[in-house]
Amino acid sequence: PEEQFEPDPSKKNLVILGTGWGAVSLLKKLDTENYNVIVISPRNYFLFTPLLPSCTTGTVEHRSIMEPIRSITRHKQAAVKFYEAEATKIDHVNKIITIDDNSDIKGAMSKTGVPYDMLVVSVGAENATFGIPGVRENACFLKEIGDAQQIRKKIMDCVETATFKDQSPEEIERLLHMVVVGGGPTGVEFAGELQDFFDQDVKKWVPEISDKVKVTLIEALPNVLPMFSKQLIDYTESTFKEEKITIKTKTAVKKVTESTVEAEATGPDGKKYTEILPYGLLVWATGNAVRPVVGDLMSQIPAQKDSRRGLAVNEYLVVQGTHDIWAVGDCAVSGYAPTAQVASQEGSFLARLFNTMAKTEAIEDHIHDLSSTLNLKPGNAAEIAKEIEENEKQLRRIKDIKPFHYTHQGSLAYIGSDRAVADVSWLNGNFATGGGLTYLFWRSAYLSMCFSTRNRVLVVIDWAKSKVFGRDVSRE
Ligand code: FAD
Ligand code: NAD
Repeated sequence: PEEQFEPDPSKKNLVILGTGWGAVSLLKKLDTENYNVIVISPRNYFLFTPLLPSCTTGTVEHRSIMEPIRSITRHKQAAVKFYEAEATKIDHVNKIITIDDNSDIKGAMSKTGVPYDMLVVSVGAENATFGIPGVRENACFLKEIGDAQQIRKKIMDCVETATFKDQSPEEIERLLHMVVVGGGPTGVEFAGELQDFFDQDVKKWVPEISDKVKVTLIEALPNVLPMFSKQLIDYTESTFKEEKITIKTKTAVKKVTESTVEAEATGPDGKKYTEILPYGLLVWATGNAVRPVVGDLMSQIPAQKDSRRGLAVNEYLVVQGTHDIWAVGDCAVSGYAPTAQVASQEGSFLARLFNTMAKTEAIEDHIHDLSSTLNLKPGNAAEIAKEIEENEKQLRRIKDIKPFHYTHQGSLAYIGSDRAVADVSWLNGNFATGGGLTYLFWRSAYLSMCFSTRNRVLVVIDWAKSKVFGRDVSRE
C-alpha cells in the first residue's frame, strides 16, 4: 500500500513525469521492487484518448475512459509514490525536479523539490496554436477531459441560444455553425461525432433548427488525414459530403475573433483570397507543441539545441546530452509519429530496459562478491571461477538488449455515420479499409485496448445507452 512507501537508501530513485500513455505503459511492466518509484503528474488518472472525441457529444461518458492512477500503482509489487503536481523545472545538473501543486486546493506546502537518480519525462505535448491571434481566448481544444466537457456544454449552449425568442436568422446561422480547424485525425473524428449527434439526437429533440446546423472542417493542406492512404482519404471526403460536413482544404486560419474565423484560402486557379466565417463553436485541433518544462530542459542541454519538436533521444530513448534522463511519447523526438501506439511501446521498452538494468547490477554485485571470496578460499577456486564464468555469460545475455524498435499496428479513425477508416498492417501486408465493418472493427479494437475491465464494461454500457435512449442533450 502507498502509505508504506519508504524510500530505500540502497535503491535508486526513479522519477516518472506524467500519467499518460507512455508513463502508464512503463509503470504497468516495471518491476517496482528494483527502484524507489515516484510518479508526478497534475492528473491523478490515465486518460484513454482515442475515445475522447466520443465524450464531446455524450456517446461515451467521460468517467468511463478515465482510470485512477492509484488503481494501477496499488497492484504493483512494491509501493509507488504518487504526487499530484506539475513538474515546473528539471535541473539536470543537480538532479532535482521542482514540483508545484497547481490544483484548486493547496496546503501550506505547495512547491518543493524531488531529487532523482533516474528520470523519465513523459509529459506529452500541449496544443499548437502557432501564435495565431485569438485562438487561446476563443477556441476550444480537444486534449483533456475538461476540454471534452467544455465542448459538450457549448454545443448545447449554441443550440439553446439559437432557439432563443426572436433570434435573427443570421444569428441563428452563426450560432449553429460549428467550425473545426485541423484535418488531422482529431479534427476528423470530432467532426464525425458532431454530425452524428446532430443527425441522430438534436434532429429529434430540437427539430426546428436541425436543417440549419452546419459543420465545417478547415485544413491548410490539400487534403485531410495526410497519414492515411489516398483511397481512405477519398472515402473520408465522400462520407463527409454525404454527412453534409463541408471540408475546406488549402485554407489556413490566420486570425480568430469571438465570433469569426479569418482564413486564407487558395482557389483552383492558385489565387489566394481571404474568407471570413462566422461561428458558434470553434474547435482547434492543429497538432502538438512543446510543453514549457520540456522547452526549458532542452535549453539547458547543448546537445538539444537543434531539436525543435521535443527532446531528441537516442535508440535507447536516452535524452541526447544526458545519461540518466529518458523521454517517451509526444515530448520525445524518436523518429516516430506522436501517437498513443508509439508512446505505449516506448513505455514498455523502458520497463524492459530498467528491469534488465536492475538485474545486471545485481549480477555485477554478485560477481564482485565471488571475486573477493576467490582469494579468501583458494581451495574452492575452481568452483568459484566456474560460477563467475556462468554469471558473466548470463550478464552478457542480459546486456544484449536491442535498441527500441516500433511495430506499427495500423491507423484507425472514426468518421461518423457508423463508419471508420483503417490502414492496417497484417500478415506482412498492408490493407486499407473503410465502412461499416471497419467501424465494428474500430469498436472492438478500442474495447480490447481499453485499459481495465472496468473501463471496458463502462464503455459498452455507454454505447448501449446512447443507442437505446439517444444521447443526453441536457446542458450541465
Ligand atoms: P499524454 O498521454 O498526453 O500524457 C501526458 C501526461 O503528462 C499527462 O498525464 C499529463 O497530465 C502529464 N503532464 C503534463 N504536464 C506535466 C508536467 N509539467 N509535469 C508532470 N506531468 C505533466 N493516438 C493513437 O495512437 N490512436 C488514437 O486513436 C489516438 N486518438 C487520439 C484522440 C485525441 C482526441 C487526442 C488528443 C490524441 C489521440 N491520440 C491517438 C494521440 C495520443 O493520445 C498521444 O500520442 C498520447 O497521449 C501520447 O502519450 P504521452 O504519454 O506522451 O502523453
Ligand atoms: P495533426 O498534427 O495530425 O493534424 C493537424 C492538422 O492541422 C494538419 O493537417 C495541419 O495541416 C492542420 N493545420 C495546422 N495549422 C492550421 C491552420 N492555421 N489552419 C488550418 N489547418 C491547419 O494533429 P491531430 O489531429 O491533433 O493529431 C495529433 C497526433 O495524434 C497525430 O500524431 C495523430 O496521428 C494522433 N492522433 C491519432 C488518432 C487516431 O489514430 N485515430 C486520433 C487523434 C490523434
